Amino acid sequence: MSGRVYFIGAGPGDPELMTIKGKRLVDEADVIIYTGSLVNPQVLAGAKAGAKIVNSASMTLEQVIAQIKESTAQGKQVARVHTGDPSVYGAVREQMAELERLGIDYEVVPGVSSFLAAAALLKREYTLPGVTQTVILTRMEGRTPVPEREQIESLAAHQASMAVFLSAGRIEELCCRLEQGGYQRDTPVAVVYKASWPEETAVKGTLGDIAGKAKAMGIEKTALVVVGKFLQDDFERSRLYDGNFSHGYRPGRCE
Ligand code: SAH
Repeated sequence: MSGRVYFIGAGPGDPELMTIKGKRLVDEADVIIYTGSLVNPQVLAGAKAGAKIVNSASMTLEQVIAQIKESTAQGKQVARVHTGDPSVYGAVREQMAELERLGIDYEVVPGVSSFLAAAALLKREYTLPGVTQTVILTRMEGRTPVPEREQIESLAAHQASMAVFLSAGRIEELCCRLEQGGYQRDTPVAVVYKASWPEETAVKGTLGDIAGKAKAMGIEKTALVVVGKFLQDDFERSRLYDGNFSHGYRPGRCE
């Protein structure tokens, strides 16, 4: 029987932030292919003796698929381990398409994305009543282009909470474009470096001064830039726990 492939979200860094299912599948795998540039090697600590561990950092898509094809043909179970959640900048869809073409069975196990670990570190909620009810996950274009209609300036016009991936190295440009797009210069911004790793750090500031602060700390990689008034302290109470409002689980007195 041919083996199965599990795409597993390893979480943002802390091995305890992997799901129980993801951890079990990594521990049971015969072959583990992990994104070495970002996945904490400690998430592989429970791999079984004799498991083949492959770092995909320097591999091409074809090489990854060849490894999966060979292993599954031998009936081996493969854990393909991605950082955070595979569905966010995971380059996972192209792998799925190849597996479908080859008739190889696979399943996806979600993980804790780094934007969620960033909110946890900052002790903030992205969706605040009276502030915003929307979270935008985006990036600046790099080698991968971003469609014209999703340019930072256009997204900034919404003044929603924004988590910007893969862009901390160009934070000056990012802040200028956010301001040109409509965020006020005093909009709070935080740069979160390696959320949930032992060396995690967060720098807080405004659109006007965060670039200098982040640069001074040498933060360029493995960092998220989060932007918006959700970082501030003013907001309205939620209706969910408001005694003046009723809902399905807490009917009003007149109902
Ligand atoms: N799939 C991943 C994102 C991969 S893209 C996820 O769900 O988090 C890589 C980018 O993610 C990095 O450039 C950085 O912007 C962000 N990132 C990944 N891990 C991070 C962490 N622990 N702390 C802060 N940012 C992180």
